[in-house]
Amino acid sequence: MKFVDGPNMGLDWLPFSFQKEPMDIAQDRSTKKIVLQSCSQLLKTTVLQSIAFNLMANDPCNFAFGSSSESEVKKFKDGKFLPAIETSSVLKPLVTDKNDKNAANNSKQTQMINGTFIYWLNLNTPGNLRGITTRVVLLDEVSTCEITDEGNPIKLAEARTSTFGSDSLVVVSSTPLYKDDLINAEYNLSDKRRYFITHICGHEYTFEWEQVAFEFKTLENGRAIPDSTTTRLICPHCNEEIDEHTRHQMIDGGRWIATNKEGEPGVVGYQISRMYSPLNTITEMVSKFADALYNFNLQTFYNNELGLPYEDEYQKELDILQLESLREDEFNLHNIPESTLGICISVDQQLDRNEASILGFDEKNIYVLGHEFFYGHDCTKIESTAWADLDKFCRQDFRTVDGRLVPTLAVFVDSSNGNATDTVKKFTARWAKYHPIKGSSSTTGDLFKTSTQAGYQLQILNVHDQKNTIRKLLNLMLSTEADNAPVKLRFSSTLPSDYFEQVSAEELKPAGGKLVWRLKKGQKRNEALDCLVYGMIAIVYAQSQLGTQPFRKLREHKVQESTKYNINKVEEPITKPEKKQTRRRTGMGSNWFGK
Ligand SMILES: [Zn+2]
Repeated sequence: MKFVDGPNMGLDWLPFSFQKEPMDIAQDRSTKKIVLQSCSQLLKTTVLQSIAFNLMANDPCNFAFGSSSESEVKKFKDGKFLPAIETSSVLKPLVTDKNDKNAANNSKQTQMINGTFIYWLNLNTPGNLRGITTRVVLLDEVSTCEITDEGNPIKLAEARTSTFGSDSLVVVSSTPLYKDDLINAEYNLSDKRRYFITHICGHEYTFEWEQVAFEFKTLENGRAIPDSTTTRLICPHCNEEIDEHTRHQMIDGGRWIATNKEGEPGVVGYQISRMYSPLNTITEMVSKFADALYNFNLQTFYNNELGLPYEDEYQKELDILQLESLREDEFNLHNIPESTLGICISVDQQLDRNEASILGFDEKNIYVLGHEFFYGHDCTKIESTAWADLDKFCRQDFRTVDGRLVPTLAVFVDSSNGNATDTVKKFTARWAKYHPIKGSSSTTGDLFKTSTQAGYQLQILNVHDQKNTIRKLLNLMLSTEADNAPVKLRFSSTLPSDYFEQVSAEELKPAGGKLVWRLKKGQKRNEALDCLVYGMIAIVYAQSQLGTQPFRKLREHKVQESTKYNINKVEEPITKPEKKQTRRRTGMGSNWFGK
């Protein structure tokens, strides 16, 4: 039989040296589970298919193949699995014809001539894992599967084999995404086999990225990236350079060795990186590494090239005690820093209250000045006093410590609660500074985007992106690099006592094939985080409305207000004509400053 896709397309089905053991060990009845944590196109799919082909030909039984989505399952089935069978004179006659009326073939199952079935499972719909019984389940791309209320999809799939006891076999495979994701957790419970190679100097070890040496080159824009033409693979023991030919020979003569004695009995795990691939050179990997560094996308390099989970700044646990230390006594709603150029307010609507965060900003700081509650009976109704109180609050004059009036530039009001959409629409019609908003479920796209789909202007916000930014800024604020932050996120000590608990209430979790922010287990409230997200996007939005040099405009306005304040102190009536004149002079931005 032949490979039908990928780099080996058209070649005979001959496994690489490191693919053989995982295939063979599947036939060993003491093997309960095989875990394959690997970069793409190196270990997983070939091993999964080979195990399946062997079952079909030599050990017929029902088995199931599962992946992270319906399209992934279909891609595997129609793009790899069935076409490969077509190339084999042994396997082809075993499968019923898809047009055979007597066979029960559909998108969920394929029938064999001998009456056994292959079941095709979408692991993200746990419902379709019920009702089938198989001796073997083969799972791919489990890292992008989600643990739902119904449970861990791997465990649910495993449960399908329970009637077969020690005869059952589960193969779990994936490119890892991040530490302790579904594949990494499974690998950590296994005996953690690594592929050891022996250099001509006699030392046996594993290939690691640190053994790759290269020079850096400086680009025209001043940034330095690895120069792949200088790539050298170095033996960590004799320090000799290993050429491609020697690397291939070392791989051919390598062997798997378990590195975890505490692994669960019968659970074998394999992890391998592209440094072992006979299909690419180390130079090509360095070129990908340079690309990843340049694009700040090291996660992709770790996952897809090294076959390793990546722990980046988003996944680091935020320490609440450390966050608490960010509270500052020097400013709050009544002591707005003199440098403040504008105010934005963000509102989260709940049934019994509206919550609002008030953010002030200048070029280098975002001050979270306060977080206020407006209670009322049934806030889904515009008649609720919570809306009247909020209205009054937002329209007040915000003044700095020296008494200068700071313009309120935008008030973002969340309208994602379907029961309150109409109320938010009515409320935001009251003042030009009010904008109804809605968080997008998509993780890509613009930070804010005007939609008129509902018949009125609604700002659709990329909350995912903003949550990434907030997490980055918080990590930066807690690091020794705080002074180098492009903008400092600063918090008033007057914020509610559980403010930081709410701001750190979410974590990145895989869902539907991507990472999304979700409430951590045990956390219920995240309104403060939502308000911070909306408020920070409101600031970007307000700046975008002020033309190409928003800060210049805001500084000019600040000077005018300061002058006016001085005049105010001398003689009150002069201010009105002065104000009108000012408005005309400032041009397009003026409407944003005026009340
Ligand atoms: Zn050596």
